[in-house]
Amino acid sequence: MRHILLLGGTTEASALATALATRGEHAVLSYAGRTDHPRAQAIPTRVGGFGGIEGLAEYLTREGVTHLVDATHPFAARISANAIAAAELAGVPLLALTRPAWEAGPGDRWIRVADTAEAVVALGTEAARVFLALGRQTIGDFGHATQHFYLLRFVDPAAPPALPHHHLVVDRGPFTLAGELALLREHRVQVVVAKNAGGSGARAKLDAARALGLPVVMIDRPAIPDRPQASSVAQVLDWLDHRVVRGV
Ligand code: NAP
Repeated sequence: MRHILLLGGTTEASALATALATRGEHAVLSYAGRTDHPRAQAIPTRVGGFGGIEGLAEYLTREGVTHLVDATHPFAARISANAIAAAELAGVPLLALTRPAWEAGPGDRWIRVADTAEAVVALGTEAARVFLALGRQTIGDFGHATQHFYLLRFVDPAAPPALPHHHLVVDRGPFTLAGELALLREHRVQVVVAKNAGGSGARAKLDAARALGLPVVMIDRPAIPDRPQASSVAQVLDWLDHRVVRGV
């Protein structure tokens, strides 16, 4: 019987977990443990790091994992690189479930940057009202740019961030265009900072920024080594059955 380890923390991982449960697959969903109240899942879950490449390889062997599916966030580059190396070490086939990056369209005013340090520079020296649409782990760099007001949105209530002028909203996607428009207007946001996560759940803020004519400082995805990829739950299921990814 096959045993699937699904690396999660995304909407796509949750959708795949539901599909695996429906098929009666023996599968475990792994969370890093970043959120206090992860969504309930249709398959058993485990929480916490594995201890690097070797720890993950040992887990794969010890638990008799036959298939590893990496459905982590596009910015979770370390676990994705670890998964490639650990799968190789343990001799377990790996497939990544990924989503295309967002592309700028007509009316978008994107300033593309490589990382959060460049995003800070792109905000400039003049005080601005900024929607920092980043997780709480990634706002540290902005502590150097204290001239700005930051609107923050986290999944969980957090200790007050070390940013002198900020307003914290605790909310979890998916978000709507109407809701994002109201939020940007309420806080008189002038510029949005976002990671190029892709997908639909976090897209509305970009549509709202476009509608209001606001610039978006868009942080590009980190590089992840090549690996086999699927772009839908159906393709992952097909791969489990046939070990090929069709229609990518
Ligand atoms: P990361 O920098 O790539 O990973 C850091 C370490 O966290 C890894 O080395 C691993 O520890 C552990 N880890 C990460 N994902 C794990 C998982 N699914 N199961 C068990 N351990 C995991 O990752 P990150 O950016 O901190 O993201 C952590 C989690 O949040 C991921 O599951 C990701 O899907 C989710 N997430 C991330 C973002 C984002 O913007 N980065 C956004 C939404 C959701 P060990 O080396 O000890 O194994």
